[in-house]
Amino acid sequence: MTTQKMNEKLYYDLLNIEKLLDKVKLQGIEYLKQLSDAPTSTKQTVETEETLNDVGIGGFDTLKEFNNKFGKIIVGSSGPRYLGFVTGGSTPASIIGDWLTTIYDQNTQAIKGQGDISAVIEIETINLLLDLFNLPNNFIGGFVTGATMSNFTCLGVARQWVGKQLGKDFAKDGITERINVLSAVPHSSSIKTLSMLGIGSKNIEKIKTEQGNRESIDVEDLKLKINSLNGEPFILITSAGTVNTVDFDDFIAISELKEKHNFWWHIDGAFGAFAACSPKYRHLISGWENADSITIDCHKWLNVPYESAVFFVKEQHKVLQTETFQNSNAPYLGNPLDNFNYLNFLPENSRRLKALPAWFSLKAYGKRGYQDIVENSIEMANILGQFIDRSKVFELLAPVRLNNICFTLSGTENQDKVLDFLIKLNDTEKVFMTPTVYNGKKGIRASFCKLENHKTRC
Ligand SMILES: *Cc1c(COP(=O)(O)O)cnc(C)c1O
Repeated sequence: MTTQKMNEKLYYDLLNIEKLLDKVKLQGIEYLKQLSDAPTSTKQTVETEETLNDVGIGGFDTLKEFNNKFGKIIVGSSGPRYLGFVTGGSTPASIIGDWLTTIYDQNTQAIKGQGDISAVIEIETINLLLDLFNLPNNFIGGFVTGATMSNFTCLGVARQWVGKQLGKDFAKDGITERINVLSAVPHSSSIKTLSMLGIGSKNIEKIKTEQGNRESIDVEDLKLKINSLNGEPFILITSAGTVNTVDFDDFIAISELKEKHNFWWHIDGAFGAFAACSPKYRHLISGWENADSITIDCHKWLNVPYESAVFFVKEQHKVLQTETFQNSNAPYLGNPLDNFNYLNFLPENSRRLKALPAWFSLKAYGKRGYQDIVENSIEMANILGQFIDRSKVFELLAPVRLNNICFTLSGTENQDKVLDFLIKLNDTEKVFMTPTVYNGKKGIRASFCKLENHKTRC
């Protein structure tokens, strides 16, 4: 009889796991120490290989090769001077949670029974988040990879809800009726989601925005659009923070409309939801608890590593949610409502314990920690906003409402120079911002949502 011998390289790495992880830990510490000075962009390029070596080179040499080859293209995107898109960093506690997520390598689905029940940790994390955001506990929440997938999950249930109003089961039979969608300034990812869900990315009835440099829904126009639907059900996609100017829809007015009309109300609060963490800004989301579904990103303002976001869908819709996401060909899983399992409530089946970094960070810093991060970011945005407002060279395209600023070069004659200026600015590798178009003008966006600059203050 022959006994199978373990692969040599694997065996060596397992024997030396402590040294291997120590090396990575030290490298990580070195990286984090210089993160605030790390280049925010790079002109380096790398030739990518197309063949895989036969025998492997083992963990130590692979780490060396990674560092030599790819180290130079890693930029300080999680550091404080990277203001592009809406990019969060990672709190120390979230890094611990992320490491342990990898080490424990749970497949997070069930909350009881035999085998993996790590979803209990996810449920607790959802409870902590509902508390952080001051939301009632009549929402079912779960983790997905980002706000795009959260919008997908929420609008997937909305699609099923519309079908139910019309006596149809779209999840089973496909979409057989027109689905009405109303929105003013939806994030591009909601539009992508409408395409993925078969609702159609062009299938949005645009509501006018309020007068006076606003991106928020004009409630009077919304009423007109609702009346012209003659009582047909519809989906309303609203914003808790548009990306260009961080404008919020009027959730109190929309709550009142919801009492009178039959619609699914979704809020994309990917980052704007964090207004809830500060008593100074909480009024912006007043009334949002009446929504049917809410999207919030964790890898932005919660400052946990990518990929992390949550959806909140009202518990009263859980039948619609399981109709949409039930893993229906696996009868051994039983009735999804008797035996809670995440795989019946969201797109993925197998999934990592994404909640753990968030759990660590929430526990470690609490409500006060997040209030500080949020208020700090807003203060930074205001400082830059005031600088731009006073400067002759730049002008603000919209008032600074929260943590993003949207500006451009002064004077229409300089519109052609905006992109060149931004490329030069980003080429300094000292700061990174992103281009945008707002009100027909080319502009630049800077977003503050890091735990930044605490060092200089503490
Ligand atoms: C970032 C963002 C999204 C998309 O989020 P991902 O995490 O990139 O999928 C959606 N909506 C808003 C308002 C955002 O800011």
